Amino acid sequence: MILMTFAISGTTKIFCLIGHPVEHSMSPTMWNAALQELGLDYTYVAFDVESNNLENAIKSMRALGIKGMNVTIPHKEAVIKYMDEVEEVAMKMGAINTIKNDNGVLKARNTDAGGALKSLIEAGCKISGKNVLFLGSGGVARSVAYILSNKVNKIILTDIVEKNALSVANEIKKNMGANIEGKLANLEMLKKTINDIDILINATPIGMHPKIDNTPIPKELLHEDLFVFDVIYNPLKTKLLKEASEIGCKTLGGLDMLVNQGVLAFEWWTGKNPNSTLMKSKIIEFLGLRQ
Ligand code: NAP
Repeated sequence: MILMTFAISGTTKIFCLIGHPVEHSMSPTMWNAALQELGLDYTYVAFDVESNNLENAIKSMRALGIKGMNVTIPHKEAVIKYMDEVEEVAMKMGAINTIKNDNGVLKARNTDAGGALKSLIEAGCKISGKNVLFLGSGGVARSVAYILSNKVNKIILTDIVEKNALSVANEIKKNMGANIEGKLANLEMLKKTINDIDILINATPIGMHPKIDNTPIPKELLHEDLFVFDVIYNPLKTKLLKEASEIGCKTLGGLDMLVNQGVLAFEWWTGKNPNSTLMKSKIIEFLGLRQ
């Protein structure tokens, strides 16, 4: 692949990420490769912004004319109050990760959730009318459950702490009018529910590097009609995904979600389609992963 020559000049504009910490972010690598390939006169940088400087960081976006800003932990919720416009579902979620500076008007979206949805659709997962079981009720489960909640038949959110699952499920039920329930994650619950489930989503860190021999659900409970989505991207194929493939399930790993949240922001900010294969290969290279 030939990358176009790129030089920062007086006309170069900035896209950026803010968060704390950000040194290990993969976004600059992935974004700059895609921007350069399209010959766009932008550069993407990461700024380490602590919570007491969040308001100043947003003022700087306006003052410096920064065209696009991604927001990561710990600012996804707190930043909302500085926005001029927030898309409806992100407002209900109470979390955003992408800001567009539209001639001084700051507009915000949540492309984490959209990235997961895009990945599921691209992987051929049928969503409409399906029953979905989430393992985990943390940040990722919450945002993906929000975006799926008005598209599927039923969602079951689970957690090793029952009140966490109940509280997220009740919130989504209230905000989205969704058919969703929270349950304690244990073997008995999995045995009782799994046969009615079409889409299984692992949104826990179980199976993530370095504990790659762990899996959140015993292989014998999986059935071939399941679509299994593991949001973990390191390793690229978790033990859960390997066992699900052996049984005959369709599977999807977390890398596409990671890339697609960037793709959606890229399209929104530039109006152009980035090379998602290049973006993916840059993440694989950055993490030193094997395909
Ligand atoms: P999180 O907020 O810590 O959520 C993890 C949740 O899983 C917690 O609620 C935890 O419960 C629960 N849990 C742990 N063990 C469980 C079990 N056996 N059964 C059911 N629930 C269990 O983490 P997160 O930010 O949502 O991230 C989750 C995973 O997503 C991580 O592996 C991360 O690497 C991955 N991730 C992927 C992407 C992507 O783009 N692909 C982006 C971000 C994160 P307790 O809190 O009670 O322990």
